[in-house]
Amino acid sequence: MLVLGPILSVRALDRRHATNTSGQPSTAKFAGMGLMRDGLLWAAENETLKSHVPRWRFVKRALRQFMPGESLADALEAATTLASNGLTTTITKLGENTSSSEQVDDVISDYLAAHDTIAAAGLDAQISVKLTQLGLDFDPDRAVRGLAALAARAEELGTWLWVDMESSEYVERTLDVYTRVKADHHPVGICLQAYLHRTAGDIEALVPFRPGIRLVKGAYKEPSSVAVTKRADIDEAFFRLGADLLAATADGVRVALASHDVPLLDRLAAAGRAIGVAPDQYEVQMLYGIRMADQYRYATDGYQLRTLISYGEEWYPWYVRRLAERPANLGFVARNILGRS
Ligand SMILES: Cc1cc2nc3c(=O)[nH]c(=O)nc-3n(C[C@H](O)[C@H](O)[C@H](O)COP(=O)(O)OP(=O)(O)OC[C@H]3O[C@@H](n4cnc5c(N)ncnc54)[C@H](O)[C@@H]3O)c2cc1C
Repeated sequence: MLVLGPILSVRALDRRHATNTSGQPSTAKFAGMGLMRDGLLWAAENETLKSHVPRWRFVKRALRQFMPGESLADALEAATTLASNGLTTTITKLGENTSSSEQVDDVISDYLAAHDTIAAAGLDAQISVKLTQLGLDFDPDRAVRGLAALAARAEELGTWLWVDMESSEYVERTLDVYTRVKADHHPVGICLQAYLHRTAGDIEALVPFRPGIRLVKGAYKEPSSVAVTKRADIDEAFFRLGADLLAATADGVRVALASHDVPLLDRLAAAGRAIGVAPDQYEVQMLYGIRMADQYRYATDGYQLRTLISYGEEWYPWYVRRLAERPANLGFVARNILGRS
């Protein structure tokens, strides 16, 4: 509560200034939202909070909104339920920034076991990894070997492997590792962030590799020197790059538009249809627990819908980034403090 207190008071201030006299959202509202997002993104990286907050039971209860459980079995149980409703899944183990070769070995054997368990269950569930989990911070060659091992197993099992994108300081190194592995293994995709100024150039450079590209808006706090920072500009960048990617399906690019922004996805679907790309020629990806009714609706309407399910014990920074995306989610945390959900 010590930590959530200041954040919740920003929320109260936010509500007081939410509309101006004409009933339109006021600039104070956007300023309040920005402040809260910044506060939460700061909290996501704070070491003291990282070590304390995960122990609070009410936070764990609220977390269930976005994560079925901490174990792979929890994630696969959720994936099985979603599959029975026509949704495919991506599974990812939370955790960033390993600092030793032994930790990397553990991550890789976990993911290899996950590949096998998914195959044995007959699920269309793919794995997504962060390269800092595979040693990118201290030994990029180790990350290349780790990613190649996971990609080789994905290839044997006839599935795909995905690489998450982390904050901007990692983008160049992530792309370098990705292209080195992609040169030898076909079924590997990478996440690119629409808010980065560099992304249009990165897409152009990757197309010859016939990559999988998962386009997202971007989840980190980035300076204006590397990223567009205004919401409307980020949305337009996502539209522009998404439309380019839909056109690139003709060049063999596997495209996933990963967003919960339904109007934007619908605009892109219309742009795709206008150039002959139907909704079943690319994927729409969303996170477990967010806009589930839309996820089911898209699947029924003939889209390929893939839900990303996270598991693992190191959920704190990831969870706080989800709160930052929609600070109204703090209300859910607050209700759990009172024991209601
Ligand atoms: C499958 C997938 C993989 C991703 N991988 C990465 C990655 O590797 N690297 C990276 O930087 N980012 C990643 N992201 C996160 C992404 O960058 C955005 O931060 C996130 O998707 C929110 O943006 P949005 O496109 O949904 O649009 P927004 O404009 O943020 O949201 C649109 C609407 O969706 C709903 N919504 C969005 N987020 C939430 C939430 N947390 N809780 C409740 N409702 C919400 C709200 O109704 C909101 O109005 C991933 C997202 C998805 C879906």
